[in-house]
Amino acid sequence: SVAALNTATVAAMRRKLVGPNTAVNYDTPLHIVRGAGAYLYDIDGNKYLDCVNNVAHVGHCHPQVVSAVSKQMSILNTNARYLHGNLVSHAEALAASMPEPLEVTYAVCSGSEANDLAFRIARAARPGAEHVAVMGGAYHGHTRLLIDMSPFKYEGPGGEGRKPWVHVLPCPDPYRGLHMDGKAAARAAIAEAEAEGGRICAFFAESILSCGGQIMPPKGYLADVHAAMRAHGAVCVADEVQCGFGRAGSHFWAFDAQGVVPDIVTLGKSIGNGFPMGAVVTRREHALAFSNGMEYFATCGGCTAAGAAGLAVMSVVASEGLQARAADTGDYLMARLRELQKLYPVLGDVRGTGLMVGIEVVDGSMAKHHAPSVAHWIREAMVARRVLLATDGPYANVLKIKPPMCFGRAESDHLVEQLSQVLAEGVPEEMAAYDAAWHARGMPKTVKPWLLKL
Ligand code: PMP
Repeated sequence: SVAALNTATVAAMRRKLVGPNTAVNYDTPLHIVRGAGAYLYDIDGNKYLDCVNNVAHVGHCHPQVVSAVSKQMSILNTNARYLHGNLVSHAEALAASMPEPLEVTYAVCSGSEANDLAFRIARAARPGAEHVAVMGGAYHGHTRLLIDMSPFKYEGPGGEGRKPWVHVLPCPDPYRGLHMDGKAAARAAIAEAEAEGGRICAFFAESILSCGGQIMPPKGYLADVHAAMRAHGAVCVADEVQCGFGRAGSHFWAFDAQGVVPDIVTLGKSIGNGFPMGAVVTRREHALAFSNGMEYFATCGGCTAAGAAGLAVMSVVASEGLQARAADTGDYLMARLRELQKLYPVLGDVRGTGLMVGIEVVDGSMAKHHAPSVAHWIREAMVARRVLLATDGPYANVLKIKPPMCFGRAESDHLVEQLSQVLAEGVPEEMAAYDAAWHARGMPKTVKPWLLKL
């Protein structure tokens, strides 16, 4: 069987048969064959604590989701061109979870599709406005359009830089007290568009910036940006692909925690617990503007099995109290990480809400210099201890923790214990040297400092 292919064979086949830049995690890639709850298992039966997979929102292979999907697959799985209770019930559950004007759902197959469609809806709602505004460091998806709307990608290796129709609000950096004024940032983006003879049709932002480095916008920041963007005539899009469905702990939707009501919300990842699906939820007036005669159809968007998956996820989040659990676990975990932070100044900042937590790794000096090599080294040392972390942020120096929501206090203890042992062993000195050399070059986003020749 496929699962019986050994690791060396899989690696060799992958090199030969799969697109060469298809991303793989960790210096020595893992051969994972099973998942359950917050754990993954490799081909040799080793068990890993998964601290990063926010797609497996209610836990890897949650039995209720698995049974809802497999049962539906055995009865019917077809497209949304037929009437079926699953699509409408899922749309009803999404609308009920959001503030009033957000009531109409479009079903798609991924977060990228959701953002691409959101852009089309915004263009229809604001005819003549063709520019867009995004946050610095943002990632919104992998289509051609969305790579251009994602500084995380276009500023990095292989990127083509900012296109003239894209305007970037510098990402707030509360840890360093930089770019904290939303009004000023929005005004500058609007002025830049107008100077180029354009108008902004939409402002896209995550309410907690994930790829941007697990950044919580300062209080009132998004409300100020939304007000300025609306005064300019733009619609406001909340990308909840990573931060939605209770992950923020305090609120079901992260935009709610920021006190804003977006015009369009985009969903993905956790919406299907791994069943490939996404959604756009918007106001009726925008849906009507978008209904210009051209049909909306996505072959698998809103298919019968997707509805089953989506309903099961929402039902498990409620029945298992996962939002409250995320709030409790997140507070507990951050308190423990802050104890560790007192001992190890390379843990510059511990931040987040619920189960969306970031640890910004720095050089430990007053200058708070980003330390991607140290972060990378910690990540690799942790995977050797079978704890899976990832690095993120425009400089890849933020360790991110956004595990399945069944992650609890026991898992937090294990993570902190292992991290504490890794740090007690001591970060190799050359890591600091790599980071210093990279700083001296002006922190190029296209360079991985730990690969520099010193
Ligand atoms: N938006 C955000 C915030 C994301 O993190 C991602 C995926 N990392 C996407 C959109 C795109 O989702 P997908 O990969 O499902 O297309």
